[in-house]
Amino acid sequence: MKNLRKKDLYIGVDVGGTKIMAALVTHAGAVLARKRMPTPRKTKGEHVIAAIGDIISVLMTEAGVDHTQVRGIGLAIPGVVAPDEGKVIVTPNMTLSGLTIGPILQKRLKMPVLIGNDANLGTLGEAWLGAGRDADSVVGIFVGTGIGAGVVVQRQLVPGFRNAGGEIGHITMQIGGPECGCGNRGCLEALASRSAIERDVRAAIQGGRKSVVTKLTNGDMSVIKSSVLSRALKQEDEVVTSIMRRASEMLGYACLTVRHLLDPEMIVLGGGVIEACGEFIVPIVEQVLGLHSMPGSIDNTVVAVSQLGDDAVAIGAAALIHSQLEHHASMAAEHTLHGLTTPHIMCDAHGVKIDGVTYAGDVMIRADGRIKEPDFTPALNDAGFTELRTKALAKLCAKGAPQILIVGTDKPERLAFSTKADALLQERGITRHVCSIPDALELYRKETGSRVLYVHRQQ
Ligand SMILES: [Zn+2]
Repeated sequence: MKNLRKKDLYIGVDVGGTKIMAALVTHAGAVLARKRMPTPRKTKGEHVIAAIGDIISVLMTEAGVDHTQVRGIGLAIPGVVAPDEGKVIVTPNMTLSGLTIGPILQKRLKMPVLIGNDANLGTLGEAWLGAGRDADSVVGIFVGTGIGAGVVVQRQLVPGFRNAGGEIGHITMQIGGPECGCGNRGCLEALASRSAIERDVRAAIQGGRKSVVTKLTNGDMSVIKSSVLSRALKQEDEVVTSIMRRASEMLGYACLTVRHLLDPEMIVLGGGVIEACGEFIVPIVEQVLGLHSMPGSIDNTVVAVSQLGDDAVAIGAAALIHSQLEHHASMAAEHTLHGLTTPHIMCDAHGVKIDGVTYAGDVMIRADGRIKEPDFTPALNDAGFTELRTKALAKLCAKGAPQILIVGTDKPERLAFSTKADALLQERGITRHVCSIPDALELYRKETGSRVLYVHRQQ
């Protein structure tokens, strides 16, 4: 693929509990190649990370692209993540909990790596290239074993203040209702996911009701797949039909709540249950929404079925790194438009001047392009050196998966990093440069990668 411009490609990886899927996506959103492999089971998180690294390497080799052509990698994790640190907080079905997977892979693959929640990224994928590609605001609800969801407003993911937003699956639909995997009761997930439907079908049959599910599962009802539910619906099985109608209504009322709260242009429904039984479910959801249209609204929220299917999450992961780096690039373009380099920095007797604003004291430019006056001061260590510690580093490197940290200071020879700070940089795969302020500005201007500039005045 030599005809492609340099740095024109993105890689999105869907790290699932059963399979890992990586996609090579162009700047314009064309999927050039895909690679799939089973997730290593019953093994340490480190082995799963190694497998992710391998699949990315194989994908690139098979597609004939090298490092210079890929701008970055997005990873979708099924669980709670801290995107700023690239850390997995909890993955219920995997062994990645507690691991700083982003920095580890960034160091290994020498490319920026960002991570996100899988359902959030599935929504971002649908908003970028799928059913919601023409919509400005999209809410995605994915019905499978559980119910995952995501919110995209003005084409940007809304992760929430604590990265815990968009959890539509855990809206309380029935006070004191059935127990949910999250520990609460009566969540949408506990009433309308495949697991909830399965539980109710099983209970009905065990309670003496007749259903084709008994035959379709050969009597083993430990798992009732979406395909079995679909076949039972086609055979107009009374038990499955009534339970699924109730679940679909619940989903409809959850969509109604979403509409009242966000009024999105479109709600995209996806996941295994929708793929198998969407023809039955979607009209019921639409009916609930239609029956409750808001006075004054011209037309109703559009409900659409996911168009990317299995690809949605990997494409969304590529969209995550794409949008983050694009944001950086568009800021750069804006400056170029005004005839300036990006951003315009210089230093004079008064301090450091960034885009016309003079900072007499400390200042930083984070990897996401934000210019900030730091709210921390480096401490003095026992040897009398100015010392940068982990707290300061966490703030410097908080956003945008930086690869390089450039520190400019009056006396570079008297600036040190604490042992823990050094370890943190190493762990996150960030290279550090400490030099005089003019040299730091020069270096910042010359570098093109994801970088942080920190100017510190040592009085
Ligand atoms: Zn819940």
